[in-house]
Formats: sequence, C-alpha cells, structure tokens
Amino acid sequence: MMEFTPHSVPKKTGWIEVIAGCMFSGKTEELIRRLRRAKIAKQNVKIFKPKIDNRYSGTNIVSHSEQALPSILIEDINEIFEHSKEAQVIGIDEAQFFSNDIINICNQLASDGKRVIVAGLDQDYRGNPFEPMPNLLAIAEYITKTLAICVECGNPADKTQRKTASSERVVVGASDIYEARCRKCHYLPEEK
Ligand code: ZN
Repeated sequence: MMEFTPHSVPKKTGWIEVIAGCMFSGKTEELIRRLRRAKIAKQNVKIFKPKIDNRYSGTNIVSHSEQALPSILIEDINEIFEHSKEAQVIGIDEAQFFSNDIINICNQLASDGKRVIVAGLDQDYRGNPFEPMPNLLAIAEYITKTLAICVECGNPADKTQRKTASSERVVVGASDIYEARCRKCHYLPEEK
C-alpha cells in the first residue's frame, strides 16, 4: 500500500489525519502508534475519547490488543479546547460518538497549527456512513482506511456485524456482540 503518513510537527500550519474503518481493523492501534512516536519525539501530545466508551478502561485509550495511552475523557467535544492549549499533537478516539461540532473544532485546532489525528468507525452496524466521520474524511489532509479480516470467509472486511437484534445505533461492546465482515458476509440483524 502506497501511503504518505506524516510524522512531523506541522511547521506554521496544522493538519487533520483521519483513521477510519470497522471494528477490529486496528484503528486504535494505528492511532496509538502515531501518538506514541510523537511522544518519543517529546512533542506535547493530548489524547481524548468520549465518556461513552467504558469498555476497557476509564482513562486510557486501549485498543482491542490492549495497548494503552493515558487519555482525557470528555462528554462534549467543545471541552477539548481547555485541555489542548499547549498541545502540538491531538489524538481523538471513537470520533463517531461525538457531535458534528467536531468538524469545526478539528478545523480550528488544525488552523491553530496543531496536528489532529482522529480515529473512528466510518460505518454503523447497518453499513451506513456514521456521522460525523464522513465529514471528517472530507476535511482531512490525510486519510487511512483500516481493514479487518472477515470472520466468515477471510476476505478484507470493512463492515461491522452486530450479532444481537438491537436496532439502537450505539450499543457499546466488543467481540461479544460485534464481528468484522466483508460486503458479501455482512447482513442486517433483522434479516436473520
Ligand atoms: Zn466474508
């Protein structure tokens, strides 16, 4: 895969990087990898995630493979400003759980000279674009789509299969209720 991954502190400008994909595709691992490299370079890094996501840890961002970085839990994306005045690099995980305000906020932070790295689910369990991710993809300078491997057939997978019947858009869980599936193997729970 040919891909340019920026890894420096922006010089006189910021930018937005988006890491988008289904569950179990390594979004958070990729976010952690980029943020950890910035920390090693002694850059001022701040990491945020929504309060809704209590799956593994109160104050760390933790990937399914259990890598962790200390993060700040926020309920409203507007809270990000008060915590990131000194930050050079800002990481945001689980962006699909924030309101559409995140679009302007990321633009403002990047225009202020910060490197903003946002990870999130680009589709909901039905395979529909999961706001605000489509808008973030549109305004980002750099986009990485992470693919998982289909649990059923081994094809590259970009859909999240929900294994319960709930039709709520947000049901927080991990491999107990979700699986990565390809286009061919993904179905809506009510179809079975
Ligand atoms: Zn498949």
